[in-house]
Amino acid sequence: MRRKLVAGNWKMHGTRSGTAELIESLLGAMPDGQAECAICPPFVYLTDAARLLRGSPVLLGAQDVCAEAQGAYTGEISGAMLRDVGCHFTLVGHSERRALYGESDELVARKFAAAQSQQLVPILCVGEVLAERESGRTHEVVGRQLDAVLQVVGVAAFARAVVAYEPVWAIGTGRTATPEQAQDVHAFIRGRLAARDANISGSVRILYGGSVKAGNAAEIFGQPDVDGGLIGGASLKADEFAAIVAAAG
Ligand code: PEP
Repeated sequence: MRRKLVAGNWKMHGTRSGTAELIESLLGAMPDGQAECAICPPFVYLTDAARLLRGSPVLLGAQDVCAEAQGAYTGEISGAMLRDVGCHFTLVGHSERRALYGESDELVARKFAAAQSQQLVPILCVGEVLAERESGRTHEVVGRQLDAVLQVVGVAAFARAVVAYEPVWAIGTGRTATPEQAQDVHAFIRGRLAARDANISGSVRILYGGSVKAGNAAEIFGQPDVDGGLIGGASLKADEFAAIVAAAG
């Protein structure tokens, strides 16, 4: 039985005081339920967030991690640092990092490995752009992104990882994949992992991300291979995010 997970990606939003207010509101609004919940604030607010979340069921995640362990990498943040400030998860390969910062499949795979080497649970983001979907290449693209990681870390590593299917055309656009479109790609991802290891494939959580809101979450999360969501915009509103977590529970 896979426990549902809802993770909020705050991206580059907020202030120090706003982060504290949002976390306090979120903790006040959190439903009692079955779903696991995490938030990924900006790096500079992780320490504050860890303090505020202490003793709560909400886990902490980062939005990115350096592929290297330590050294002369100006501006980068290592997995060990994230672990040190209390992170449990880190996103790797978010489509904004791939598109805006040129992260290749190979770099994403190394970030995945770097996260796991510090006992962080990577949330591997994969997904196609609109032109790829419209030309019928969704499975090919998602398969390539997944295989790049499998090649570096092997399927056993997915026992301690989460996958997030995020169609790029649905991120921040208000245009959500239909539940059937999401289920199709989630089943494809699970099948790709099952070809290597059926047990791991059956236990790995695959989240959907892309304009999930309180109003559409239950229908998407009700699909058999959808194990929760990665939430951008709606994670910045405590009541909305709590309602999404409730829909997963
Ligand atoms: C995201 O950036 O991971 C995301 C899913 O964003 P949004 O929910 O705003 O589409």
